[in-house]
Order: sequence, then structure tokens, then C-alpha cells
Amino acid sequence: MQVTPLAEGYRSGFVALIGRPNVGKSTLVNQLVGDKVAITSPVAQTTRNRLRAILTTEEAQLILVDTPGIHKPHHLLGERLVQSARSAIGEVDQVLLLLEGCEPPGRGDAFIVDLLRQQRLPVQVVLNKWDQVPTEHRPEADAAYRELLNESDWPVHHCCALTGEGCAELVQAVSAFMPEGPQLYPPEMVSDQPERLLMAELIREQVLHLTREEVPHSVAVSIDRVEEMPSKGKGAVRTAVLATVLVERKSQKGILIGKGGAMLKAIGQGARLQMQTLIEGPVYLELFVKVVPDWRSKPQRLAELGYADEGG
Ligand code: GDP
Ligand code: MG
Repeated sequence: MQVTPLAEGYRSGFVALIGRPNVGKSTLVNQLVGDKVAITSPVAQTTRNRLRAILTTEEAQLILVDTPGIHKPHHLLGERLVQSARSAIGEVDQVLLLLEGCEPPGRGDAFIVDLLRQQRLPVQVVLNKWDQVPTEHRPEADAAYRELLNESDWPVHHCCALTGEGCAELVQAVSAFMPEGPQLYPPEMVSDQPERLLMAELIREQVLHLTREEVPHSVAVSIDRVEEMPSKGKGAVRTAVLATVLVERKSQKGILIGKGGAMLKAIGQGARLQMQTLIEGPVYLELFVKVVPDWRSKPQRLAELGYADEGG
């Protein structure tokens, strides 16, 4: 890791984005780093692995830790997600608590606020999706959330992660609360996630977007092989990627493959285009679908797919 000399007053550190599934954590990460590093989806609980995105400005370097949403655990995968969010809190300098400004505060929010109250970390609050709150309802929505946060001195920001409104001010405020420190990553780096994992996430994103509710969270992707293919003649070197989409049920496999293979083809095409942007070169992608009953409850399968057991 390259460490650049410490400029006078430069600040750096880690920020955890905490919040219920679907509040816009991944959207905010992408908005802040100005690059697509986190997958987003209208379906809740898209983010499975913890992702670090890096935002470097003249004043500070912020390492954003996008965590899966905190929620009540349902099965093994859910518990891992919660563990991961909890342990992220232990590793950071500051917490950004995202709340869905356009919805009234819920019991889940109170649960997260309580959890954060027990920490000594600086917390700042983002009321996200503020664009969805009609102007005349804003004072009311604001008051409801201030009541939820009662007596905390956490600064509250109103943002729209989708368009970037309020985000510049947010970056300034977060930077100001960071400890002084040098850049920990080269300034051009936007993510610490290995390319293979990002590739798997891009495929998973296409599955979620194209199949919506039909094949929800029981999907995992493993990247089986990545190989450079020598070009014939003068063409650019192509990267061949072999990947498997794992589902839990045979019916889901059917949906993913689609009529005459149409769905799988669309998933592959969408993912291939995104991958080409990621690795900045032509990609040949071959996708397989495999049924592994109940993979979410099998610790070994989870570990193989990169959902590490990170302890409590
Ligand atoms: P996460 O689960 O917290 O990571 O949430 P995502 O970033 O995946 O976002 C969930 C959904 O909310 C996506 O469909 C986003 O496009 C949408 N979204 C996120 N931020 C905003 C916002 O500020 N305004 C609006 N209108 N939609 C948003
Ligand atoms: Mg997410």
C-alpha cells in the first residue's frame, strides 16, 4: 500500500454506512466516489459482502464501508449480515446512519439508534430520499426523525443519494470529524474489492434487476475461471470469464434460463457490458446455472462464496 506524505491538516479514516436494507447505502457510496463500485437494487438486501469504497478529496480521504443492512436475523445468511454490520462499527472512525427520510421512522430504526448509542464513535445522520418528501411535509418528517434521535447531538443531513443533492455538504461534514492522517490508498483507487468479487456482484446485480421478485436472495455467483484469451491477429486481448449462478430450487433455475435461454442470455449480456467497463477491455462471458438446495444454510458453501464468518 502506497502512503503519501502527510499534508498539513489532512484527514483520513473509515466511515461505516449503517442503515436498514434499501435506504440507499450503496447508491450513496456510488454517488460519493463517482464510480460504480456497489451494486444497488430496488429489492432489499442486495449488499452481501462488505465493500470499501475510497473517496479522496483535497482535504481528506474517506474510506467508506458499505455494510449490509441491520435487521432481525431470519436464517444463517441473515445472521452473517448482521454480524458483519456490527463488526464494521468496531473498525471505523465514524458512522453515517442512513434513514429513509420519506418513510416514518420504524422499529428497525430505533433498534439501530440504540445500537449506535452504545458506541463512543461520532455519528452523523443522513435523511436520505429527501427528494421523495413533498416540501410541505418536510418539517413534519424532520421532526419525526429528530424525535427518534432524541437528545443525541448527531448532525442531521438531508440528501438525495440518487442525484447527489446534499452530498457535497455531507462529505465536508464527514471530513471535518475525521482524525488527522495521511492518504491510506492511492488517490485514483475507488475500491479495495478484488476484481473477481466485483465481477460476481455485477452478475448478481443483473439477476436481481432482470428477474425482480421471482428469484430474490437465494442467488449467489461464483467466478470459476478468469483467463486472458490470446487475440487472433490484431484484435485486443479478450478476457474469458466462466461463472456459475447458484440457486436453491429447480424452479428458480428455470426462471434464470428463461424461454429458449433468453433470460440467461440477457443476464450475460448486461453483466458482460458492465464487466468490460470494469476491466476496460473486451470480455467473453460464459454463464452456468446450478441448483444447490439450501446453500444459504451451509456454512461451507457460504465460506466458499466469500461470505466469511466474521465473528460477533
Ligand atoms: P441499500 O440496500 O441501502 O444499499 O440501498 P440501495 O442503494 O440498493 O438503494 C435501494 C433503492 O433505493 C434503489 O432502487 C435506489 O435507486 C433507491 N434510492 C437510493 N437513494 C435514493 C434517493 O435519494 N432518492 C430516491 N428517490 N431513491 C433512492
Ligand atoms: Mg446495498
